[in-house]
Amino acid sequence: MFSDIGYSQTSEVSEADLVLLNTCMVREKAARKVFARINEIKNEIRGDQSRTASDNGLPVFGVMGCVAQAEADRLFERSRDIKMVMGTQAISRLPALMEQLDKGFSRVIDVRLSKESEFLELEASSRQTKHIAYITITEGCNKFCSFCIVPFTRGRERSRPAGRIIDEAKALGEQGYQEIHLLGQNVNSYGLSGRYHGNLGNPGNLGNPGNLGNLGNPASADAGDEITFAKLLDRVAAESGVPRIKYTTSYPRDFDEEIVRVMDAHENLCEWIHLPAQAGSDRVLRAMRRGYTRREYIEKIVDIKGARREISITGDMIVGFPGETDDDFNETMSLVAEVEYDGLYIFKYSPRPRTPAAAYADSIPEEVKTERFLRLQELQDRIQRRRYERYLGRTVEVLVEGTSSRSPSDYTGHTRCNKVVNFPIAAEALGKLVNVNINGVKSHSLYGEMAGDCV
Ligand code: SAM
Repeated sequence: MFSDIGYSQTSEVSEADLVLLNTCMVREKAARKVFARINEIKNEIRGDQSRTASDNGLPVFGVMGCVAQAEADRLFERSRDIKMVMGTQAISRLPALMEQLDKGFSRVIDVRLSKESEFLELEASSRQTKHIAYITITEGCNKFCSFCIVPFTRGRERSRPAGRIIDEAKALGEQGYQEIHLLGQNVNSYGLSGRYHGNLGNPGNLGNPGNLGNLGNPASADAGDEITFAKLLDRVAAESGVPRIKYTTSYPRDFDEEIVRVMDAHENLCEWIHLPAQAGSDRVLRAMRRGYTRREYIEKIVDIKGARREISITGDMIVGFPGETDDDFNETMSLVAEVEYDGLYIFKYSPRPRTPAAAYADSIPEEVKTERFLRLQELQDRIQRRRYERYLGRTVEVLVEGTSSRSPSDYTGHTRCNKVVNFPIAAEALGKLVNVNINGVKSHSLYGEMAGDCV
């Protein structure tokens, strides 16, 4: 879109006429980071004597993403440098915003959210990543987990029409992409957008769901005519011609056996599932409004472990949710021990504006959160070490994504099960699939030697 209106990208911030900061708000301090980053960039530019670009020597700063959506014009009040605020659904209206700036408006903003918002359609040839392409299949979220800000910043869940997803995947296959990732907050609810499938009505009756914002009644979403996620996966695998297909994030309540059966049926569906549990205790899961119990979660894990090929399972856990007792936390520990994740993102709970949990009593002191975080991390590190050591002596397929930033004489890439592998550069293999014999293990990566030619 930018090249259509005469811009080109620069890797030197001091050359930029426009700087866009893309933001995430899932955890605290996101807005603060925006201002800190703007100051850093200003200092960098002031340090560069050669800069002559625009009138005052500074670029136009724009903020996009969830902070832009949630903070809106408050961002203008807090920073005179910000000239553009672009909400999560405004990307397709970017040219109009730029035009307003060109016409002399001093500040422009678009934070409209609507159920009908269009997906941004990308030409395969205009992508910046060379070997891996990300394809959005759903936007927004209808779940309303009590801790999560996403439904407020990204709006109602919308599924992109299957035909367009499949066409895009095919075009990427034709362009030689080796790996695609299907993306969404909860990919498993793809096609359910026509039906409200959130968690507000789950057992436990936690009372008023809180302020749901000005997005209208979630139950009145548009009727959808989409296929299920399992069917979509089946078609993308069969029709795209892409050798490796991954997807994230899976949502336990909507994850069904059919998805595992489809993965069994297609070699190009990679052996990795990210299935966040968030907690191990039913009491906390209820207060989080996740819509499933520990037992139901474990049933999904058992299904995945019964797949034809071994599938790596990763997840997310929150510690220190309001009211989490030692017993609740111990149940999270025991769930992690039972599942044996290949990787786990652990988060200390932080209250997010407008979410119901932000008003819950019994907040957990910071030092208790930290202590629980460290204990869980230590448990996961031990499990992960064991899981990774199983790869010693095995040969794995790696997509070579680049040169390792830590060691320039090594290539780096991911396995089909999404583990990082580093190995010495042996032949020109950038962007190729290669076999690597694993001979070393670190806590978050594998090390090896290339075995023979590219796959
Ligand atoms: N949609 C996915 C789901 O519901 O499982 C995950 C989306 S979220 C963008 C990524 C992760 O951030 C969550 O899985 C959760 O562990 C963490 N997270 C979200 N809100 C949080 C909060 N208020 N405090 C701490 N961690 C949070």
